[in-house]
Parts: sequence; C-alpha cells; structure tokens
Amino acid sequence: MSDHRRLGRELDLFDTDPLMGAGLPYWLPDGAVVRHTLEEYVREAERAGGYRHVYSPVLGKRELYEISGHWDHYSEDMFPPMDLGGEQVVLRPSLCPHHALIYRSRSHSYRELPLRMAELGAMYRSELSGVLGGLTRVRAIQLNDAHIFCTLEQAVDEARAALGLIRHAYADLGIRAARYRLSLPGEGNKYVADPDLWKRATALLEQVLEGVEYEAVEGEAAFYGPKIDVQITDRAGRESTLSTVQIDFHQPERFDLHYIGADGAKHRPVMVHRSIIGSVERAVAHLIEEHGGAFPAWLAPVQLVVLPVSQEQDEQADQVLRRALGLGLRAELAGPEHGTLGARIRAARLAPYVAVIGAREADGDLAAVRLRDGRRPGAVPVEELLRRVGAVVEGRGAELWAAA
Ligand SMILES: [Zn+2]
Repeated sequence: MSDHRRLGRELDLFDTDPLMGAGLPYWLPDGAVVRHTLEEYVREAERAGGYRHVYSPVLGKRELYEISGHWDHYSEDMFPPMDLGGEQVVLRPSLCPHHALIYRSRSHSYRELPLRMAELGAMYRSELSGVLGGLTRVRAIQLNDAHIFCTLEQAVDEARAALGLIRHAYADLGIRAARYRLSLPGEGNKYVADPDLWKRATALLEQVLEGVEYEAVEGEAAFYGPKIDVQITDRAGRESTLSTVQIDFHQPERFDLHYIGADGAKHRPVMVHRSIIGSVERAVAHLIEEHGGAFPAWLAPVQLVVLPVSQEQDEQADQVLRRALGLGLRAELAGPEHGTLGARIRAARLAPYVAVIGAREADGDLAAVRLRDGRRPGAVPVEELLRRVGAVVEGRGAELWAAA
C-alpha cells in the first residue's frame, strides 16, 4: 500500500533512470530537502554527542582493503577494482579503513580518548540487479557512520551512549525499533578466525545490552566482529537493520593503531563502530512509508502553503510568504492561476500548514489556518501563525497546533 517506491515517484521525492543504472536512484528537490534536513539533524546530534566530522574519499587502493580484511572476507560485495597507472583502486565498501588511517596519521595521547570521528560518506555495494529496488537496496549508499577510538575501559560506555543516541533519534523521527539483535558469526570462512577476539567482543556487547531485551542470532555478524543491530519492520512486516553498534578489536590490530598511555608506553585502542540512522537511503525509505509521505513538520519538504482566495489578495499572500521564508520556513505560494481554492487545498494536503488569505484576512493581517490533520484553528494573526509553525519546527514537535 504505502510502498516507498510508489510514494517516492508520486510525491516527486526520488526516481531512477536506466541510463544511470539500477540501484542508483537520484533525488528530486522535495526528496533532497528531506534528506538534507535528516543529514543536518544527524550532524547536529553528533556534534552535541562529542563527535567531530571528517571527509574522506570514496576510493582507496586495493592494498587498503587487503589490510582491513575486506579483500579476503567481503570481496563478493565489492565492485571490481579499476586499473589506474599500474595500481588498482576500489570503490570503498565501508568507511572504517579510511577512518583508521586518519586516526593513524597523528599521534594520540590517552587524554584525547575517546576520540569520536563521524562522517556521512558514500560507500558502494555490488548488489545484483535482480534485488535492487527503490531506496532500500542500492549500489551507492550514503552512510551515517562513526568510529570511536577509545581505551578498553571506555568501550562499553561509548557503545551504550551510541545506543542512547539511536533511541533519541528514533523518538524525534517517529521510528519504532522492532527489536534489538546481537549478531554473532556463523559457519563458513566469512569471518576472521580469532576465537578469543570474538569471545571478548561478544562479552562486552552483552554488557552494553544489559537491561535491554534482545535476541542473539548467528550468521549476522560483521566479518571482523559481533554487532548490535537495531531492527525495523516495514509495512509488509519485512525486517531490516537500520542502526548498528560494534566493538572491534580486529581493525586496530590490522592497522597497528595505538595511543600513548599515562605510563608513556604505546597501547592499542578499541574501535567502536556505530551508525545512528544507518544509510540515508534506507532511513528515508522507512520514513516515507512510516508517515505515508506526510512527514513531521520539521522534515516536510513544504511546511506552509499560502493560498490567496483571489487575485486581490495576491500582494498580502506574497508578503506572508516572504515573512515565512525570512524566518527560515519552507513555504510556497499557490495563487488562483493554480486552480480553484478547493483544488489548491487538495493539492496542498501533505503540507502540515495551509494559510488561506481572503478579503477579511488580508484586511486584518490574518490567515485562516488549516492543519494537515483536518483541524481548522480559524483566522489567526499571521504573526501568531508563523511563531507557532516556527516553534513546532524548531522543537521537532509531532503536535501541529498545541492548545494556546
Ligand atoms: Zn566501521
């Protein structure tokens, strides 16, 4: 019913073109607004959580992935390498190796730890064309990723704080976690062979999950370690992983990472990998389905539509639009040239707020307000309308019109 692919096309959020290729969607302006707002939200939450952002390139040399272990354990999901002047470069299958190199590029004292490095960066997966669709299975992924380099003693607290960030974001976004999963290794050579590593990392994640209801599932771990997955379900009941938290001993070893301890000696840090909303594509797909395209006001592509009843109110409506835009709101004007008032109100049905300006409203600097949920607070001063909309957007509120 509310398949995100159908809604994405109907609402002009995203689409694909066979010439760009399967699994490579592009974002239309309204979809780009939702994505941009979500990305800024995540960056802000991370800054408040003590993370600092970096940018790193989407390509790396083949040797980088040989060191990280992707080449041995993950090559099936990677694009084939490109030959370039005698060396091979690869579209990256994850951001971890780049972040490990950035950490390694400077020396670090124990006083700098935990060092929280975040990036909203692209990564690539060579999904077969048969399984591609919409935003949930794509070949180019924008990942909300972060790596916390810390001491062994700090790892559990850091992983717990990451789970806290995830819970907080879900509350703001209206996402419900279906269940928590402790993902363990399974059979086969997909996983690095180091029984002690798996035991230690699993024991720490079990500590992180104390007091949380979860299921342990074999065969779902990353190749380098176990992870906590936060599972969501779509409208059809299909389950997928949105957010993850991992405690990793493997990458710090492979990249020979260290910090200088209080004793002046070199020590090995632990890497906590975590993603709050997972990939931007999957997160937006879920939000589209969850809200049926009627996004919370702070995420909505258009927050306020201004409708002059007739051409006589054009000037007043234009002024209301300018005031709204000046306050940073996403507002649009739909004048009589766009059809009858009824048709324009129907066209604006997904906008959280509609402000109708008739002769009476124009004279008194008022707007007849209609809310998306069907309520009609009536004619209110434009000033008050803009103040209320601004407050709901600013506070990321779900309630469109609180009792005054
Ligand atoms: Zn990672």
